[in-house]
Amino acid sequence: MPGVTMNKVVKRYGDVQVIHGIDLKIEDGEFCVFVGPSGCGKSTLLRMVAGLEETTEGEMFIGDRNVTKLDPSDRCVSMVFQTYALYPHMTVKENMGFGLKMNGHPKAEIEEKVAEASRILKLDEYLARKPAALSGGQRQRVSIGRAIVRGPDVFLFDEPLSNLDAELRVEMRVEIARLHKEIGATMIYVTHDQVEAMTLADKIVVLRLGNIEQVGAPMDLYRDPDNKFVAGFIGSPAMNFMNGTVADGGVEVPNLQMTVPVPIAAAYKGYAVSAGLRPEHLTIDRSGTSMKVEMTESLGGISYAYLIGATGERIIIEERGDERVSEGETVGLSFEPERLYLFDAKTEQRIRG
Ligand code: ADP
Ligand code: MG
Repeated sequence: MPGVTMNKVVKRYGDVQVIHGIDLKIEDGEFCVFVGPSGCGKSTLLRMVAGLEETTEGEMFIGDRNVTKLDPSDRCVSMVFQTYALYPHMTVKENMGFGLKMNGHPKAEIEEKVAEASRILKLDEYLARKPAALSGGQRQRVSIGRAIVRGPDVFLFDEPLSNLDAELRVEMRVEIARLHKEIGATMIYVTHDQVEAMTLADKIVVLRLGNIEQVGAPMDLYRDPDNKFVAGFIGSPAMNFMNGTVADGGVEVPNLQMTVPVPIAAAYKGYAVSAGLRPEHLTIDRSGTSMKVEMTESLGGISYAYLIGATGERIIIEERGDERVSEGETVGLSFEPERLYLFDAKTEQRIRG
């Protein structure tokens, strides 16, 4: 299965540039997720791979084929959309086989490929039904089946689960992961949901305003973000940020009324930083008094406490176990100093010691 390579790709609509020269290599058989907030250019970049949007500048390769100027139908890609775009008057079986039929493939071959896709997606008992008689999840499985039947080099997914309810979304997410394991094809998957990105991806590409902020394996982005944007985007609930100043022997964080003893080069002394701590790395210190508990939310196995510190900056902590704080309590916080992430307050780039 060929991978995808982008060399300095740019997209402009008239005078408005929305993709700013992206370099990216997606390996053979890799599951690559484009993630970022709405409007950051995920769909545009995906549609440029598909050929549904023209690439204004730069080059796009699938394997070693330069596809930059090719029509979508010549690129050997299949796309699955958020809206399933099935033909309402055709059965599941006809919908899945339609692309091959239009291209004049023999009936026996179509039968065989539809049967294979149907087996993979567990659609056998629905083959004779029309889309109206299917649930949302089943319809999306049919549209994925239609992509499989075409046997593309690269599968492209644009927020395929966004129209499904929460429970079905989790179920389909697992199915898509299984599908990737089974067929091993190169897949590019667009989502604004960082949980989908974390759980599905071999490689995550974090996009913002038409630029790549960081590329990496999910846990690498979580553990070692390059900047405040990625740190805040990956992980749920999001990382807490507080203003701080580099001082002797560490970083002074007024909201916590403490100087966190972290190693940092002397050259940074007096530097304004944004200090980041993940909710799951914080625990309550009942002997302390630096924070007030504003609100709590219990989800059962875990709960979230919303705390306000000395400067009024709000932070969230995650609690497990039986003993949990209550609204109105005054408590302290404890954490391992090495869990503190530092970002330049101005550039928002990570400061690594
Ligand atoms: P995402 O999928 O990440 O939500 P899009 O790729 O759809 O974002 O859009 C990226 C940017 O490009 C947005 O600012 C959007 O307004 C702009 N855009 C998308 N399509 C067009 C178009 N046809 N004409 C002008 N601007 C567009
Ligand atoms: Mg989009």
